[in-house]
Amino acid sequence: AVRVRFAPSPTGPLHIGGVRTALFNYLFAKKHQGTFVLRIEDTDQNRYVEGAEQYIVDALNWCGIPFDEGPGKEGEFGPYRQSERKTLYQKYADELVSKNQAYYAFDTAERLDFHRKDHEAKGKTFIYNWHNRLKLTNSLSLSEAETQKRIESGEPYVIRFKSPEGRELILHDLIRGEIRIDTNILDDKILFKSDGMPTYHLANIVDDHLMEITHVIRGEEWLPSLALHQLLYEAFEWQAPQFAHLPLIMKPVGKGKLSKRDGEKLGFPVFPLSWGESSGYREAGYFPEAVINFLAMLGWNPGTEQEIFSLEELIDAFSLERVNKAGARFDPEKTRWYNHQYLQQKSDASLAELFGQQLSQMSSVSTTAQARMSDMRYLEKIVGLIKERAFFVSEFWELGSYFFVAPENYNEKAAKKQWKPDTSGLLEQLLPILESLSEFSSQPIESEVKNWIDEQELSFGRIMAPLRLAIVGDLKGPHLFDIIELIGKEDALSRIRRAIT
Ligand code: GLU
Repeated sequence: AVRVRFAPSPTGPLHIGGVRTALFNYLFAKKHQGTFVLRIEDTDQNRYVEGAEQYIVDALNWCGIPFDEGPGKEGEFGPYRQSERKTLYQKYADELVSKNQAYYAFDTAERLDFHRKDHEAKGKTFIYNWHNRLKLTNSLSLSEAETQKRIESGEPYVIRFKSPEGRELILHDLIRGEIRIDTNILDDKILFKSDGMPTYHLANIVDDHLMEITHVIRGEEWLPSLALHQLLYEAFEWQAPQFAHLPLIMKPVGKGKLSKRDGEKLGFPVFPLSWGESSGYREAGYFPEAVINFLAMLGWNPGTEQEIFSLEELIDAFSLERVNKAGARFDPEKTRWYNHQYLQQKSDASLAELFGQQLSQMSSVSTTAQARMSDMRYLEKIVGLIKERAFFVSEFWELGSYFFVAPENYNEKAAKKQWKPDTSGLLEQLLPILESLSEFSSQPIESEVKNWIDEQELSFGRIMAPLRLAIVGDLKGPHLFDIIELIGKEDALSRIRRAIT
């Protein structure tokens, strides 16, 4: 059975790139009736950030892609936090040492720095491997007794992987195909530290093995680690999972990876949920379905023209074969477009509910406005009229405040152009006509007003534009007679009276 994992380190808020990795894991798991595991990789205590784990869990839940096993959802492979698995790793490091696939090293930071600088000065990069192992302070250059003595005396050590010399590795990636690597360029990476903590590499491989992970789907930034990971599987004589490295998410313009700064500069969120000063997609008014949909399209394509996918449709259509190798350019306009699309799909009733919640936070409104704001039927009708122009529910007020309160001022440019010397007089003649209407709804109002305009032999625009200004304050908005119907006779008449005096 397919088992995949999302394995973030709780070092801060989850970036949307991380959410995309989680999503692709989720889609792959669901597609194959598999299990989606959340594993918290918190072995680096220096980088641990309070609240980050909860943030990750909340973000996955908000997006609607919950994990099947993980912290708080213990399955048979727990615990799912590496800090709680701490005691487990040592024996694996020891196993590699006894197999002569890893060794103790006692180099101080200063010594390593010296070698690094020394190499640099000669125009070379310092790689800790077969090439210089014996010149450095480690169990390959020291006697067994000396090594033992140093460990016992409490001298800090690390356990390094002994990368092979002169081998050509053939790696397989489900997205990138075959990759060949010369092992001579590999570092002897640190697997274990004397503080009792494994490094990412060791813990990651041990846990993927123990948790019976079948597919590792992760960001491209981990591709350089693949050679070491494959070598570790070989050294343990374990069967390796299959690997798929997802393309990077690129800046909207220019070169490089999408960063938090790009979001700040161009004014779009890069986090699913707010974190400190940084706004999240949730707080910016995005629907989780829209976020999921645009993230799915970052690096994957269905091979058809279809752009709108529900989560079920994504599960159905998803395959790793359709994930691209090339970086996926992030397009903030497209994310807005997605939200617009999902907003149109929502029922007027559910949008009215959300709009009502926002309106209830408004202070100092008149009693009439307040009554309208808490009238769900009224809100539903308004939403039906204005949603077409909205990308976010938060724009509803801006688009339709005149449904609640009379305009405080009139678009100056429009007023100058539309308000002729006789306009007030003409609109005054309209008042008794509107007043006498017994059925005050859009259609009858419209035909009465149009009849009157015809009788006066006026052009339609001569009346309609100033009438709209009087009611709305601007020349924008949906069908004017729909607006007049909704605000009702009394309010409509008072707005016209106000405009002509
Ligand atoms: N802890 C690593 C991260 O933060 C996991 C990488 C992997 O999936 O192997 O992304």
